[in-house]
Amino acid sequence: PLFGRKKNDEKVHSKYSFKDVLGTGAFSEVVLAENKQTKEKFAIKCIDKRAVKGKEKSLENEIAILQKVEHPNIVKLIELYDSKTHLYLIMELVTGGELFDRIVQKGSYTERDASVLIKQVLEAVGYLHDIGIVHRDLKPENLLYYSPADDSKIMISDFGLSHMDDGTAMATACGTPGYVAPEVLAQEPYGKEVDCWSIGVISYILLCGYPPFYDEDDTELFAQIMRAAYEFDSPYWDDISDSAKDFINGLMCKIVKRRVSCLQALRHPWISGGEALTKNIH
Ligand code: ADP
Ligand code: MG
Repeated sequence: PLFGRKKNDEKVHSKYSFKDVLGTGAFSEVVLAENKQTKEKFAIKCIDKRAVKGKEKSLENEIAILQKVEHPNIVKLIELYDSKTHLYLIMELVTGGELFDRIVQKGSYTERDASVLIKQVLEAVGYLHDIGIVHRDLKPENLLYYSPADDSKIMISDFGLSHMDDGTAMATACGTPGYVAPEVLAQEPYGKEVDCWSIGVISYILLCGYPPFYDEDDTELFAQIMRAAYEFDSPYWDDISDSAKDFINGLMCKIVKRRVSCLQALRHPWISGGEALTKNIH
């Protein structure tokens, strides 16, 4: 059983020295830590059990799955400790920073850059879908570069613990409904297609620098998303290829049955056919 062990706070702290806080989430904190013996560095996600009270079972199930996940573009779960108050996930440390921070810093950006990046996300998410996992919380903050190198791969850093929330509560609580698929907001039953929608939204932002849906009023924002009311506005999209727009339309398709899967998206010429343009876009 994952819950109720007492000694494990001491155990984790005797094996690792906890350093800087790398980030904070809804019910967790991610801390840089060093293995005291090997000096190897890790990221430890510390989950406050009080915040997940009543949902222990689904957290257990979730973690059982996550221990099996192994993909070059998904942060690896090394080990886990559970104590009376906390759950500690010892994860592979990535050091390249968040997706959008890097793109803002980078002087130039091309469709090709975006295509190379989205291809990796599609491969990772397609792998999750193949083994029966829906991520449900794909957004730029959860995409981290593996290293500071210019050609670093991208990593899905978050283990999709968003299961802990129901869709709508999550959307409002996190203040980032922008990536949530229409069927989630409509409170319809949903599946892996929600991830494909989110990848479409991320692709949209990569190519123009602003989100497809925006309104100060959440009700209006939700309504926009539920209608899939987005456009490729002029002049921002004038120089973007039709291939890129077709790619996004496939993923950001309101009708779930017609939305392209990760595998289909990987076969799109914007990803696999060299149709992504190489001129600077922003
Ligand atoms: P939450 O599920 O609470 O959103 P995340 O797993 O997304 O938590 O982590 C929150 C933040 O911590 C991330 O946005 C990132 O800045 C940092 N972080 C998470 N995992 C790692 C990691 N493996 N290596 C380095 N930093 C990380
Ligand atoms: Mg996160």
